[in-house]
Amino acid sequence: MTNTSADLSSRTNGGPTIRCGDAELPLIDVPCYMCGATEGEVQVDDPPFKVVRCASCSFVYVTPRVPDSHLHLIYQTDYFTSHNAGEFGYSDYTRDKKGYLKTFRRKAEFVHAHRPSGRVLEIGSAAGFFLFAMRELGYEANGVEISQYVVDYARDELNLDGIHHGPLETCPFPKGSYDIVALWDVIEHVPDPIEELKRIREYLRPDGLLVMQTQNVDASLAKILGRKWQHYKQLEHIHHFSPTTMKTALDRSGFELMETTTEGAGKYISVDFFVDRMRRYSRVMHYLLQPFRIAGRLFFYINPGDEIIVLARPREG
Ligand SMILES: [Zn+2]
Repeated sequence: MTNTSADLSSRTNGGPTIRCGDAELPLIDVPCYMCGATEGEVQVDDPPFKVVRCASCSFVYVTPRVPDSHLHLIYQTDYFTSHNAGEFGYSDYTRDKKGYLKTFRRKAEFVHAHRPSGRVLEIGSAAGFFLFAMRELGYEANGVEISQYVVDYARDELNLDGIHHGPLETCPFPKGSYDIVALWDVIEHVPDPIEELKRIREYLRPDGLLVMQTQNVDASLAKILGRKWQHYKQLEHIHHFSPTTMKTALDRSGFELMETTTEGAGKYISVDFFVDRMRRYSRVMHYLLQPFRIAGRLFFYINPGDEIIVLARPREG
């Protein structure tokens, strides 16, 4: 991905479009995906995008956006080797293996504490680090992932061959057979979260566990930082949940919310990554932090409290 946010243009024969790698993707106005309403209060105005809070149900979403049918085109190789990761994707997802493995080993321990054994399915498994960590703990691990680039990485570098390349709709794994389904920073990207959660429910055993992490748009940090909040990435973070709207989504898709927590929702980041991201908030701070790059590949754990992990189970019937 190059110059994504800058390469906006309008076609003379249609609506606005956005350049993403080699593709020119359309942008369309969308209603609230939680309730269908079209009225809302603009939280962030970032032309051509608006982040809107639905007047009817308080769900926060981005409009206009890439239509459901084209969204998968965003997540190809460029997404994982982005030149502009503050706005879009990851700078080098696989080079940062050490940090991701530390993060996902910690998440695997979190899941282990709630469900100590069984079969796990991860939706949006990316390079496979969580599945790798779960396999280390003795779980049978499968993934679903739409980007061929990271499916290949997981198979070739981590020896994970149980990952389906494609959307969940085309997943061949047996339904009703998983003890755990996990989504780490994924539900905010999917075209239709309610429909996706209904599909996910079909893959769980009746006594299965859904574990899902996403950013919390009502967190203090989101309010303090406003439009500079790191989770406002308009092209890809098209849905912004809060604990309240997450409960609504789970209710509507056949789940019962068990717990919402910020515990365990942090990640290990390198000093380099931290210094890079500070540029989004303050150029002066970014400059002052440069000497710390000498420790660039050291990792530390950070949990700013602006993401939630929800635990839920299928509702009976
Ligand atoms: Zn709504």
